[in-house]
Amino acid sequence: MNTKILTEEKIKEAAAIIKNGGLVAFPTETVYGLGANALDPEAVGKVYEAKGRPSDNPMIVHIARASDIGQLTPRLSPDIVTLIENFWPGPLTLVVKRKKGVPDRTTGGLDTVGVRMPDSQLALELIEWAGCPIAAPSANLSGKPSPTRAEDVIEDLDGKVEAILKGPDCRVGIESTVLDVSGETPTILRPGIITPENIEAAIGKKVVVDPALYVNRPRDVSGEEFKPKSPGMKYKHYAPKADMTVIEGNRDKVQAEIERLKALNERLGNKVGVILFEEKAFIEAAHDFFAKLRDLDRQEVDLILAGALSDTDGVGFAVMNRMLKSAGYNIVKV
Ligand code: AMP
Ligand code: MG
Repeated sequence: MNTKILTEEKIKEAAAIIKNGGLVAFPTETVYGLGANALDPEAVGKVYEAKGRPSDNPMIVHIARASDIGQLTPRLSPDIVTLIENFWPGPLTLVVKRKKGVPDRTTGGLDTVGVRMPDSQLALELIEWAGCPIAAPSANLSGKPSPTRAEDVIEDLDGKVEAILKGPDCRVGIESTVLDVSGETPTILRPGIITPENIEAAIGKKVVVDPALYVNRPRDVSGEEFKPKSPGMKYKHYAPKADMTVIEGNRDKVQAEIERLKALNERLGNKVGVILFEEKAFIEAAHDFFAKLRDLDRQEVDLILAGALSDTDGVGFAVMNRMLKSAGYNIVKV
């Protein structure tokens, strides 16, 4: 397929492709998404194909006006309304009961649907012009780091989709927080830059963090066996081409261990890349993490050594969720 690389002024052309059942990759404030008409099962099927994505993995539906959530879900609780008022447009996906018209293909067969209104003018205009909600997972090949820059998308999807809408680099850099509000207790299914604390402050209610987010360390040195709680956790996620190890512990020791392992590996003839963020610079870490992985892949390093961030539930925790997956839970504790 001949992929059109479109600039911002070609937004109507991009929207027409989506309207006609095609695929367009586009920027949002979190990461680039690969979009299709969310209400057209055939179009959504092509997204799974282009990404090589397992079909039980649900997609997030993007809308341009908050009130459009009414097309997708039969009822809005007071908490949902409060969350929308506080966080939309923005990087918070709400998992709600779905209406019948939302295809199984879009929800991975679940009776709920993930919905969000992105905080990106370009994304909002694309949805408006397309005239339909847009289902969009991250615009990378399944298993690879999420794309935060147009060149990352081109690298993965050129020749596989009708068009790539080029925009600015993504401001946030990691995917949205996913909050399940379809049941009694609001539950974080995926951490992001909107934290449990932010959500609790808005709704005045305790938020639960899915315990699976804490116990997903299959190769942890503790020797505990890993039993995946959801199918997605079996697959490799966000993985760079290089081998990757996360060094966890006290900051000074982490820095020393990275130096030691780097020197050791270089002596063995390996090309080594290092990811070590400023202490407590969690927002910057979120912004840079996927881009650094892709840059190191382009430099063809053999090994990536990454320093763990010390944060148990905030933005740093969200970055660590991605970092541990990228490394296949290959952790060294110091
Ligand atoms: P991606 O589109 O690549 O950002 O991935 C979307 C993620 O959102 C999925 O892997 C799920 O973790 C989550 N998600 C979307 N819809 C639902 C839903 N209905 N129920 C639970 N999780 C969802
Ligand atoms: Mg993804």
